Amino acid sequence: DTRIAKISSVIRVIPDFPKPGIMFQDITTLLLDVGAFRDTIDLFVERYRGKDISVVAGVEARGFIFGPPIALAIGAKFVPMRKPNKLPGEVISEEYSLEYGTDKMEMHVGAVQAGERALIIDDLVATGGTLCAAIRLLERVGVNVVECACVIELPELKLLRLTTCVLFVSDFLCA
Ligand code: 5GP
Repeated sequence: DTRIAKISSVIRVIPDFPKPGIMFQDITTLLLDVGAFRDTIDLFVERYRGKDISVVAGVEARGFIFGPPIALAIGAKFVPMRKPNKLPGEVISEEYSLEYGTDKMEMHVGAVQAGERALIIDDLVATGGTLCAAIRLLERVGVNVVECACVIELPELKLLRLTTCVLFVSDFLCA
């Protein structure tokens, strides 16, 4: 698909951000290119339309950029998976490990119902730890996670921890 090379070309890489040694994949430059941003959303929508998905769960923060337009286009609701203490209502939370220490992801109680079919969206998968936490959170309340999809996959860390818990990561979209 010729759209993927174009999308890939407008993602900026910033060395040593947020700390030395990290090559940060900056998707804000993709958002500046109307055609490439639209193509990114279209690629997801073409894959997920008609798959009986009622929930698009977006991972904070950049899953909040790509998730809602996909949700609207496939006729699903959007559910934010947030960092701790951001959601005002009652939440359920899931802890997950980072390179150093742990973090937590939270979702509003009642946002999803058991038996619903969900798609999880984030901008980037590295170790897969973040996506795994999102999957656990949804599965704990009886939601069926159909797929996880990201715009970028970091090749050097490819699918390290994903094999046990992710049904599919859309590598056709990975830059
Ligand atoms: P993982 O849990 O798979 O190791 O890391 C994925 C999470 O880290 C995603 O939520 C993603 O937004 C964030 N992340 C890590 N590195 C980068 C990066 O270089 N660029 C962007 N845009 N996000 C990153």
